[in-house]
Amino acid sequence: MRADPHAQLELLDLQAVDTTLAQLAHRRKSLPEHAQLAALDQRQAAVSSDLVAAQVAVSDLELEQSKAEADLTPVRERLVRNQKRIGDGTVADPKALAGLVDEVEHLKKRISDLEDNELEVMQRLEDAVALRDRLETAVSELRTEREALVARRDEQLVALDEQAREAQQERAQRAGGLPADLLALYDKLRPGHGGVGAAELRARRCTGCQLELNAADLRGYAAAADDEVLRCEECGRILVRTPNSGL
Ligand SMILES: [Zn+2]
Repeated sequence: MRADPHAQLELLDLQAVDTTLAQLAHRRKSLPEHAQLAALDQRQAAVSSDLVAAQVAVSDLELEQSKAEADLTPVRERLVRNQKRIGDGTVADPKALAGLVDEVEHLKKRISDLEDNELEVMQRLEDAVALRDRLETAVSELRTEREALVARRDEQLVALDEQAREAQQERAQRAGGLPADLLALYDKLRPGHGGVGAAELRARRCTGCQLELNAADLRGYAAAADDEVLRCEECGRILVRTPNSGL
């Protein structure tokens, strides 16, 4: 292939723009905020699921407390009734009266047990509410943290996209000024060569693969016409001669 030496030099400028575009795409993909967001989402999911469990525990214990209170009510009422009957002297039979007094003792003991049970449920409920409140705070803090992280990520994405847009414009301009066949070869080579289709021959090295060229190749390159499009014998990239080539 033949191409004006000036066009070959301009191909290196196009390569520089394409390298910039590749770097911008890489930075876009590898922003630390992406990994931070993924980690935060995992934490958020775990804390949210703990919160749901804590909410369920609170409502279970609230039910349990109502039940404990409900269990107490009839026993307390019966105690009041019995004490009234003992007090007002309506029970004349000593045996029946002794039975009532026994029952009062029994009811008092029963009430004390039920109250102990209710207190224990109330303590557990208090702990469960405290845990739920802590988790609610944690969820809300994580939400705020996430919003800040997303804003930081988006700010950088906007800046990177703006730079990429400018580079794309420059690329279109530079590509438009190059011979079609040279551009087609360059674009065909790039994907299989790490995005680098054209490299400068600098100080007897291909800057694409960094290998030093052997004497025979160098002699061949030196003898080639200025408008001949050279290819690196090692990597196959378009090799562009410059005043720094050392030929
Ligand atoms: Zn090479």
